Amino acid sequence: MSPTTTQGPATRDGDLETEVVVLGSGPGGYAAAFRAADLGKKVVLVERYATLGGVCLNVGCIPSKALLHAAELIDEAAAFADHGIVFGPPRIDRAQLRRWKDGVVGRLTKGLATMARQRGVTVVEGRGRFAGPHALAVETAGGERTVAFEHAVVAVGSRAARLPGLPYDDPRVLDSTRALELPEASRLLVVGGGIIGLEMATVYHALGARITVVELLDDLLPGVDRDLVRPLERRLAKRYDKILLGTRVSAVEARADGLHVTFDGPQAPAAEVFDAVLVAVGRRPNGGTIEAEKAGVRVDERGFIPADEQQRTNVPHVFAIGDVAGEPMLAHKATHQGKVAAEVIAGHKAAFDARVVPSVAYTDPEVAWCGVSEREAEARGIACEAGTFPWSASGRALALGRSEGKTKLLFEAGSKRLIGAGIVGPRAGDLIAEVALAIEMGADAEDVGLTVHPHPTLSETVAFAAEAVAGTLTDLYLPRKR
Ligand code: NAD
Repeated sequence: MSPTTTQGPATRDGDLETEVVVLGSGPGGYAAAFRAADLGKKVVLVERYATLGGVCLNVGCIPSKALLHAAELIDEAAAFADHGIVFGPPRIDRAQLRRWKDGVVGRLTKGLATMARQRGVTVVEGRGRFAGPHALAVETAGGERTVAFEHAVVAVGSRAARLPGLPYDDPRVLDSTRALELPEASRLLVVGGGIIGLEMATVYHALGARITVVELLDDLLPGVDRDLVRPLERRLAKRYDKILLGTRVSAVEARADGLHVTFDGPQAPAAEVFDAVLVAVGRRPNGGTIEAEKAGVRVDERGFIPADEQQRTNVPHVFAIGDVAGEPMLAHKATHQGKVAAEVIAGHKAAFDARVVPSVAYTDPEVAWCGVSEREAEARGIACEAGTFPWSASGRALALGRSEGKTKLLFEAGSKRLIGAGIVGPRAGDLIAEVALAIEMGADAEDVGLTVHPHPTLSETVAFAAEAVAGTLTDLYLPRKR
């Protein structure tokens, strides 16, 4: 993408002056830039890569979901052998699959470029860093350009964390970006049993790889309620070679015949050889990479740029949003914060005060959660009542051949106000949105239970879980409480 100068009067040699500069064009950054432009501001959007969209669109959420859809199709087709429809084994053309995934990404990133043009947002391609409290220096292909600004929004995101001592120069050692390029691998070791590790394991398993997962802590998806993770764990245990919990990788040695991996921990097996190792052990914020100190902006020791509920940093005209502004590092949180920053800059009374930010692992089954978990309620001494509905009693889940799911809603004791939820099962990620809305609206068990849900859908399980607490459930027999 060549830098456009549709707006912002050029000063000297391509230097720019603008009201708002946004650094980083991921879901947070482009939302901030577009919202600010829609509110009448002159906006410059600085992005180091040639396409807009950041990690999420280019090498994260979107391409991984395209591949997960392919994985779902392969698995569903195979599962139907038990129900009377037998397909042959899939013939996988990796190159074509890659082209399709890249096509999905390309449509979205092109759409962003078009929308930037339509809004008159000036896009500058290059790596940006602060040069002063009101100046950004951008290294572009044509040399350094300065952007003088009134307000800045820092949306520089995060990068994959690395384990020390691994042979990262070897192309068989993958981070999530490389893994999305789908290199051939018949034996894959996934280091990290979190969201990225388990999503990519799902894809590679469907494409025919044998999988081992190694997780440092004692659980997959650590932090999520165990009853929600168990159905996923059971399914993976049947499909994967090994799931090593409480285990760490002590060394990876790159040899011609493969990556020789040794493990450490009570369950640690003897050394094993893999074709590829995916490292998915979390992400680190990029706050330390932009010379923030030149603008007087505080970056904490982990690389986060702390911001208040208006997304202002310690420097009132500089805002931080998304991954770089703190946990949770999720695209949808970034988008909302980006809009808040733009609105505050435009003089609106806006703040990021979401009660909940839903999380989703797009595994098979999906696991989704938001608000207070049972684990957290226990730890914080929050008195609550859980309403659960097992999908084995849902007609729709049975028709899908997926009875292992579960919908669990947590209500505050006494008021029966909804405060949290967790769902495991296909499409849990879509179902959690209703729960997030209910929490934002201050709904209680009756509000959710009395909302007429379409039959037969998985969404009914949300209403049934609420009815379990309201005492009105007829789709299960629950002995009366005395
Ligand atoms: P994560 O924090 O979800 O999982 C990392 C896992 O690696 C954890 O379970 C951790 O205990 C484990 N781990 C850490 N060090 C280890 C070691 N030495 N050996 C073995 N295991 C180790 O991080 P992620 O999966 O890398 O994802 C990164 C971020 O990106 C997350 O913050 C997530 O919010 C975000 N993300 C979200 C989605 C989504 O919403 N679907 C998808 C991808 C990424």
